Amino acid sequence: SLVTVLFHLGEMATATQSLDEDTFGTLGSELGYIIEMVSAEEEDRELLGAFDIDLEAELADESDEQLTARPPVVTVMGHVDHGKTKLLDAIRSANVVADEAGGITQHIGAYQVRTEHEGVDRAMTVIDTPGHEAFTAMRARGAQVTDIAILVVAADDGVMPQTIEALNHAQSAGVPIVVAVNKVDKEAANPAKIRQQLTEYNLVAEEYGGDTMFVDISALKRMGIDQLLEAVLLTADASLDLRANADKDARGVAIEANLDKGRGAVATVLVQSGTLRVGDAIVAGTAYGRVRAMFDEHGEAVAEATPARPVLVLGLTSVPRAGDTFIVAPDDRTARQIAEKREAAERAALLAKRRKRISLEDFTQALELGKVETLNLVIKGDVSGAVEALEDALLKIDVGDEVQLRVIHRGVGAITQNDVNLATVDNAIIIGFNVKTGERVAELADREGVDIKFYSVIYQAIDDVEAALKGMLKPEY
Ligand code: GDP
Repeated sequence: SLVTVLFHLGEMATATQSLDEDTFGTLGSELGYIIEMVSAEEEDRELLGAFDIDLEAELADESDEQLTARPPVVTVMGHVDHGKTKLLDAIRSANVVADEAGGITQHIGAYQVRTEHEGVDRAMTVIDTPGHEAFTAMRARGAQVTDIAILVVAADDGVMPQTIEALNHAQSAGVPIVVAVNKVDKEAANPAKIRQQLTEYNLVAEEYGGDTMFVDISALKRMGIDQLLEAVLLTADASLDLRANADKDARGVAIEANLDKGRGAVATVLVQSGTLRVGDAIVAGTAYGRVRAMFDEHGEAVAEATPARPVLVLGLTSVPRAGDTFIVAPDDRTARQIAEKREAAERAALLAKRRKRISLEDFTQALELGKVETLNLVIKGDVSGAVEALEDALLKIDVGDEVQLRVIHRGVGAITQNDVNLATVDNAIIIGFNVKTGERVAELADREGVDIKFYSVIYQAIDDVEAALKGMLKPEY
């Protein structure tokens, strides 16, 4: 692996930090090494392998009999003020199963509700943070938590920029969408218009011959909530195979974490497979510790947590980040060693990261190496007319069959943290037309190695993209 080679190269590597991948390749072969780029995931797999933890073999070993149905995990997304928070409140109190004690009293970042579906009592896990920011941030860390996205659209307002942003995020993650047409209690509500507007984005209502479920609701008056939950379960049953093996050590994702004055590091984790138990030694990203206690959203202490169950965990020695995956280690010492090795690997990766993402200039090179076939773009502009004109013109560039251009997101306004997150996940380049970006966003892009190109003349943007696609662009030094 590159890490090993770097080790062998010793001083050489530190003296040549600005070398790119190719130069490393040349240097390596010069010295008699074969350079093989290793992704962070592969590297982590190797690290865990050294501790006899093989997550893939563990998955491959699972037979059908070991898998049992697990609840779907749902995220609520949509434009600001369209009713995401109200809907989360409504779902929280929509527990139709009467014997649920106490109600949901604690905000731990996710909660589970039970609902009756075709006469069967079924559970559903809801991520208790409205919006797609958390969703994207987690995806940028490589964690896929959400099974189904509920897209909230206010029937009196219609499809808005963040509606499109949210659906782009969900679609690019391959997450099925259920549309909640909200505020139907309002005079000005026009639910049919929402259905019609969304057909443009490949969300075609069942009643129009498509396969997306639309449910009219009023989050405020708590109407249609049961039907919405039913639609989520129907969509899950129709398009996803949600099963997990509960009979092994737990694995999952940290979805929220903070430092509590009295209790130390507290983290809400979502168990994705296996069963997490009090006393387990766990590693979440670079945080580790022994599970001292667990609590659910009712504030009740629980001794174990099964797949799709969110629990607040006490006992970690530091605070993990949202999106960090966690595993159970054989003992405390192993947990600590894994965490420490990861921290060292992270520091090294941070240095290398900058060069791993693609820039418009090195797209050509990557293309020649057969590493990419698609140039992903995020387009932001000052007015919608310009964004549309630019997108149209870019998509019209004739590039033959080998390469494709894909606009994964477009929008009006400044380049945001979200745009950068999305570009990070899909290895995209951001094209800004007559827009700026804030310092923090520029820093994030820099850290993540995301290339942002600014233009104020449309044809210049087209020229550059065309040149990159046709392999004519000279790298800028
Ligand atoms: P968010 O920004 O998407 O989380 O939206 P909120 O849940 O905060 O709702 C924004 C506003 O719309 C609030 O004033 C809510 O009371 C109102 N609202 C939300 N749902 C409904 C609804 O179903 N009907 C009506 N009339 N108002 C609603």
